[in-house]
Amino acid sequence: MRGQMMFQALTTGSLIDHAARYHAGTEIVSVATLGGVERTCWSEVSANARRLASALDQLGVAAGARCGTIAWNNRRHLEIYFGVGAGGRVTHTINPRLSPEHLIYIINDAADEILFFDHTFLPFIPQLRPHLTTVKHYVLMGPRDEEASNTLDGLQFFDELITSGDAQYTWPELDETTPAALCYTSGTTGKPKGVLNSHRSLVLHALGGNQPDGTCISARDSLLPVVPMFHVNAWGIPFIAAIAGARLVLPGPNLDGDSLLKLLTEEKVNVAFGVPTIWMGLLATLKSSGAQLPDLERSFVGGTALPPSMISTFRDDYGVELIHAWGMTETTPIGTINMPLHKHGELPLEQQREIRHAQGRPIFGVELRVVDAEGNTLPNDGKSQGNLQVRGHWVIERYYSHDKNSLDKGGLDKEGKEENTLTDDGWFDTGDIATLDENGYLIIRDRAKDIIKSGGEWISTVDLENIAIAHPGVANAAAIAAWHPRWDERPVLVCVRAEGSDVEESQLLADYEGKVAKWQIPDRAIFVDALPMSATGKVLKNRLRDEYGQILAE
Ligand code: ADP
Repeated sequence: MRGQMMFQALTTGSLIDHAARYHAGTEIVSVATLGGVERTCWSEVSANARRLASALDQLGVAAGARCGTIAWNNRRHLEIYFGVGAGGRVTHTINPRLSPEHLIYIINDAADEILFFDHTFLPFIPQLRPHLTTVKHYVLMGPRDEEASNTLDGLQFFDELITSGDAQYTWPELDETTPAALCYTSGTTGKPKGVLNSHRSLVLHALGGNQPDGTCISARDSLLPVVPMFHVNAWGIPFIAAIAGARLVLPGPNLDGDSLLKLLTEEKVNVAFGVPTIWMGLLATLKSSGAQLPDLERSFVGGTALPPSMISTFRDDYGVELIHAWGMTETTPIGTINMPLHKHGELPLEQQREIRHAQGRPIFGVELRVVDAEGNTLPNDGKSQGNLQVRGHWVIERYYSHDKNSLDKGGLDKEGKEENTLTDDGWFDTGDIATLDENGYLIIRDRAKDIIKSGGEWISTVDLENIAIAHPGVANAAAIAAWHPRWDERPVLVCVRAEGSDVEESQLLADYEGKVAKWQIPDRAIFVDALPMSATGKVLKNRLRDEYGQILAE
């Protein structure tokens, strides 16, 4: 017997329909790629999304076709998010700062049929084009531009394309397991791999992620997703915003401290989202300008570990709550969010604050476990450290391959070998080393490939970095394993000095005394002008290891 309730497929079309129906006039503020601010609203986003879907029908872009985007966070990108997915195709968001080889690889691997791109990226397209084997249509995300037209044969323009479409277009009826979005991992270890989100997984992720102890977004909020729309669907915020009917502020190309401060202030943003480096940049601007953040209440921070010192600075100096969260491309991405429990209210303030340093606890729909090297589940005791594994409604089952043959067979790698994305009992291994406590609070100790193994003992690079970043003379820091003739690996710090600071290596290393065991203190601290960063705000530690990995051998 089945339950006797209506069945409606969980689709992203239902999200934009809701926003257009009940939050039609709620504003979407969008910083344009070439400057200036565009103001639109949910009903206009919905109408343009429908126009786009119908225009793609007219162009003959088939159901299920992958539609690539190389774009900033802006309103056209939002229209593509909804128009492509709800129209039965797949939005493939592409990280523009990948190397040309990786860009070519993933566009061909995804077999994108159409490529939408912002003006910023126009100069690169002619270089890529000869290598792109599947792209039939190139669309510049803006109005007609004669100069651009001359640089690329057959170039189409987003604004023209959608005027040929129908604003009353009816979404096709889709099975909720139909794919809607495709994101590739950044490929810092090996080739990037595609994660193909279904409509159902995106909708459940948005619902699960927006619980009161999740992002807790409502129609009263004005949101600034600084996290790029090319990075795991901007953490799902566009979908959550549509469900909630929230106001959205899309920051466009300029993510420096000054630009963000201007937007946060002028647009009265109360909730923001971004990786730690973004807030480091904002902090530098706040300090030098003496400005305050009267409207900003909270910001969700993840992607890499959020240094505790940053949480205190934002809380104490600016009245802003930074909320630590963890996730990954393979988890759509939200896995955990750090909100306290009722019983924590009785703890001394310092202890309450310390709890907020962790990556948080799983939201409904996500299950976590840590296992040892043999795959035995370790206790949730806050101490047992192991490989973090995850399962849930929006967790990957297998990596994408456009080779249908391989999909039918359950995934083959590029050499044609069977690829198991999950453990035998159906969990996804995250590649993170972590602890879980009895309430499910997760602490990421490190990534398995970054953790330092010194004389058989593990040293968490996250712990070492947090201490360095808390030093007033340090703006940013990364700890890496350097080869050592006796201990195999020893920690080395690579740091960027704070503006005006002349902190010396010995002073910084002395700061570790009493904070970690003596044998965990880094052997060296090297100062550099800047750390190599990925477009998604992660320090490229493999580059640092290439450069400094042998420094202790000399
Ligand atoms: P990629 O794996 O391509 O770098 P992802 O954005 O999917 O891109 O990265 C996911 C990884 O980022 C996680 O496995 C984890 O190592 C790291 N990560 C994400 N959030 C946090 C966090 N709050 N603290 C520490 N590490 C984090």
